[in-house]
Amino acid sequence: MALLKCDICDGSLTMEVDGESAKCDVCGMKHTKERLRVKLKEADGDSSDNSSSSF
Ligand SMILES: [Zn+2]
Repeated sequence: MALLKCDICDGSLTMEVDGESAKCDVCGMKHTKERLRVKLKEADGDSSDNSSSSF
C-alpha cells in the first residue's frame, strides 16, 4: 500500500476511523478518499499523459 502524504505540506496522513478520509498530522488538512485516489493515480501515471498542454 502506498504511503499517504499531504499534498500541501508533505506531512504524513492518518486514516480516519470511518475509513472515508485521512487527516494530515502536520497541517490538519482533511483529505477525502476520493482525493487520495486521484493523487495516487497522478503519481502512478507520470510522463505518459501528454495530451493537453495549453500553457
Ligand atoms: Zn499537511
